[in-house]
Amino acid sequence: MSSLPLITAQTEEKLLAFLTEHGHTKFRAQQVLDWVWRKRVTTFDAMINLPPALKNLLAEHFRFHTPEIVEIHGSADTTRKFLTKMEDGSLVESVIIPAAVAENGEKSERVTLCVSSQVGCAFGCKFCASGLLGLKRHLTTGEIIGQILSAETIAEKRVNNIVFMGMGEPLSNFDNLADALEIITSHRGLEIGARHITISTSGFVPGLKKLAAYPRQIRLAVSLHGATDEVRDQIMPVNKKWPLSQLIPALEEWSRGRNQMPTLEYILIRDINDSPKDASHLVRIAKRLHAKVNLIPYNTVEGLPWKRPSEERCRSFRDAVHKARIPVTMRYEKGHDINAACGQLRLRKEQEKNGSTPR
Ligand code: SAH
Ligand code: SF4
Repeated sequence: MSSLPLITAQTEEKLLAFLTEHGHTKFRAQQVLDWVWRKRVTTFDAMINLPPALKNLLAEHFRFHTPEIVEIHGSADTTRKFLTKMEDGSLVESVIIPAAVAENGEKSERVTLCVSSQVGCAFGCKFCASGLLGLKRHLTTGEIIGQILSAETIAEKRVNNIVFMGMGEPLSNFDNLADALEIITSHRGLEIGARHITISTSGFVPGLKKLAAYPRQIRLAVSLHGATDEVRDQIMPVNKKWPLSQLIPALEEWSRGRNQMPTLEYILIRDINDSPKDASHLVRIAKRLHAKVNLIPYNTVEGLPWKRPSEERCRSFRDAVHKARIPVTMRYEKGHDINAACGQLRLRKEQEKNGSTPR
């Protein structure tokens, strides 16, 4: 594994700083970015309009690399999940979801990619496969971007919608995330609009504060999953450190001045958070935050005790939220049959490797 930094992990600002330091102009930086992102070359030699000395300089300081895809799982609904191997052997999973039909009935061109931000996760939510093995490490900017590049080779299409809902807590890897966001949104990068990017957080308040100060209009989803401290404490250790009395004001701070509403993600887990009373607590928080609610009937994880409520129970929960005039959707995980809740594929693979079972 070469230690040179990846060219695909350089923000425009960083590349420009490097080139000006070496006596090159801004125009050269633009040419290089054009080769990398528009023309998608994978060698410096291919950048034929650059002087040889510049090509050599780039090759001495940077390299190209797209992470290797080691497993692809397709499902009947065309969602595909894949495991990517990073250069240190770490396994990371991403999900690609082409939307066939848009809400207005027209065929949509949307290609959504769910990316991971860390290998594993330190937050240890009790229902989640990603947290089961703890945090191995942060993903680098290049590895976050690498998932997009690898996915595009599978999809044979450009990804135009990105959700940070894979493994890991993106806001606890803020610096690498911020550089990745620059590259993803830049006109001289992947050029995906900020409004087509969603960051999901379990409620890591220090990271939310940084995101509140971040200038771009990235969408925010909050994995609430419980609308009282009692429920959240039971399933999400993060709540012990940053309870609702801190999380809600941090979300208000994020909303202020940006004219955007967060989405509250709420997994429905049988007998944990699915009662009419839970629905009314959720409505209260959603009203206060002017938030939308996205209900997700729980996907069972092997080795964990949690169960999905009956369809009827899920529907009546949704109806209660809807009656309170909160915009609500209920999404049965696409690709339930391929362990689509992120973290499950890697968990299984790591278990196969170690011959272990989850706690
Ligand atoms: N760490 C961030 C980003 C990961 S998003 C966060 O928690 O928000 C992954 C989403 O999938 C989260 O909303 C998470 O709570 C949810 N999830 C985890 N395990 C799940 C399961 N078994 N079934 C359904 N959703 C699950
Ligand atoms: Fe980590 Fe999110 Fe899973 Fe919680 S739900 S363990 S924060 S990935």
